[in-house]
Amino acid sequence: MRKLIMGIVDFHERLRPKYAERFRELALAQSPDVLFISCSDSRVVPELLASSHPGDLFTMRNVGNLVPPATAEGISIGDLSEASAIEYAVLVLGVANIVVCGHSECGAMKAVLEHESPPNAPNLGKWLNHANRAAFRLEHEGALDATLKLHDQLSQLNVLVQIEHLMSYPIVRDRVEAGALHLSGWWFEIAGGDIYVYESASRSFEVIDRQRAERLVACLATK
Ligand SMILES: [Zn+2]
Repeated sequence: MRKLIMGIVDFHERLRPKYAERFRELALAQSPDVLFISCSDSRVVPELLASSHPGDLFTMRNVGNLVPPATAEGISIGDLSEASAIEYAVLVLGVANIVVCGHSECGAMKAVLEHESPPNAPNLGKWLNHANRAAFRLEHEGALDATLKLHDQLSQLNVLVQIEHLMSYPIVRDRVEAGALHLSGWWFEIAGGDIYVYESASRSFEVIDRQRAERLVACLATK
């Protein structure tokens, strides 16, 4: 907490002057083009990983980067927080992209595998049920990359399952089918500091290096 508080002073003295004009503009409106969904894990810092700045990313973070699926009417079967963020990003901000970003060594994925959440945490236990489809798929269909640790295998499949959950929202599905919204699955490997993107053609997560990044950007431009 001390680091957090002193960080405010550091921001105020050192960084705020650099952002002064940007913040003045952003005070009036925001227009991010990405909804970035990631885990609450302290090691996953979307703005740092993507060299992004205030106004760039509309973020939603929770334990396990989960998206409770919706009913046919578009109502979340979990709590309303995630669904509200999706509705706001898609309908109000009009984002053109949603990224679901999982990560290695995710405590949520370990808990799902062990069928065990911390004692006296009934909410957490129930919340993690939204990752059960990924665990089922790992058990019955196997991993995308069997060389990874089991919880990392689950974490990668979980990214794909949460994208499917996103598609259960009619406002998402309609826009994706109309080509107005693009969904991406990313995965952050903490030890190496690399970000991977899911490539459906190879059914694997591939590292985003300069070459792949240029291809992804070119692909966006043609959409
Ligand atoms: Zn996590």
